[in-house]
Amino acid sequence: MPPAIQQPPVPPPFRGHDALRASLGRALDRDALPATVLIHGTPGCGKQSLALWLARARLCTGGADRPCDRCGSCRLALRLEHPDIHWYFPLPRPRRVHGPARLAEALEAARHERLAEFRRQPLRAEGSDEVKGIYLAAVVTLRHQAHKRPAMSDEQFFVVGDAEHLVPQEASPEAANALLKLLEEPPDGTRFILTSGKPGSLLDTVRSRALPIHLPPLPTKEVAGFLEEHCGADREAARSAAVLSQGSIGAALGHLDREGFHADQRSSALDLLRIATGGKRAEAFKAALKCGPAGARGLLDLLGALQLWIRDLGAAGLGQDQRVINADELPYLRDTAGRLKLTPERVARAVDHVERARMLALGNVNPQLFVGTLLLELEETLNKVV
Ligand SMILES: [Zn+2]
Repeated sequence: MPPAIQQPPVPPPFRGHDALRASLGRALDRDALPATVLIHGTPGCGKQSLALWLARARLCTGGADRPCDRCGSCRLALRLEHPDIHWYFPLPRPRRVHGPARLAEALEAARHERLAEFRRQPLRAEGSDEVKGIYLAAVVTLRHQAHKRPAMSDEQFFVVGDAEHLVPQEASPEAANALLKLLEEPPDGTRFILTSGKPGSLLDTVRSRALPIHLPPLPTKEVAGFLEEHCGADREAARSAAVLSQGSIGAALGHLDREGFHADQRSSALDLLRIATGGKRAEAFKAALKCGPAGARGLLDLLGALQLWIRDLGAAGLGQDQRVINADELPYLRDTAGRLKLTPERVARAVDHVERARMLALGNVNPQLFVGTLLLELEETLNKVV
């Protein structure tokens, strides 16, 4: 899917979180940052950008204000070409590749391809329904690199984005364990920055090795400002995408593109809400059948969007319009909440149903079966007039 987001000529500077970055900068200067850190926060809030910023700051050879973004090291880092910054992230498993060596090669080729894409299009929307993993073969490549000397600096960085994907579909923790061994005895001059939107899904042993750094969502104003400044969005579109994003530039980019993934998930989730509140059971089964039989992990974003709609329904029912995120559908939300005589307790229960479904989706469940069950549970909870 070609992104409709207007791309800036140079990667935009990291935005926001000034206080956090200042304190990280001081820790780097004092050499007080441990070899492994874990940046966690909501999806798309800029964890991997912060990780790359941190690596750039440490390796910067410019003046006092690091990263200077001008020295040779910074320029290489900004182009994602720094030989001592190695960025790993979840990738779809290459098809028709057999044997560990071949798989490692194919994953490395796919990673470089993705890096080239990031270079061409530094702004990208968070989220997709691809099933991805950080496979053992990729960790073996990483480990091999970690035992080499840095190419041009005193240190080398390994950024592992969305590290919860270290535990792949098959629920085999071998990739995470292979990384754990490296974290337990990091080679000299090697630093690791893991990022995760779901730190609870990481192995405890991996989590306990890392200094946790929480990256909070950005204020809506900051996100809107970014979209106007770097994506050429007009004020109204920027504001509305920023509100929907709940403080995540990655998600806001997804909402900015009305044909894009986020817009699509939002409208599919609204369809599910309409079914759950419409009282027509046959519709629930039809909707469930539309879910492909592929892994249910692809449904995580959809379920997240559905939770948001249910929360909005609750807020609209209580007359708290200013808390409604999907503000363009306020009249529908108000009417529906009124018709169902919704109480906060029932809204909370419905949100819980979806939360449980999200946990299930992380495992190996049949999406058709589980969307059908979820819709029936929601129907019972939301439609029951006490
Ligand atoms: Zn620099």
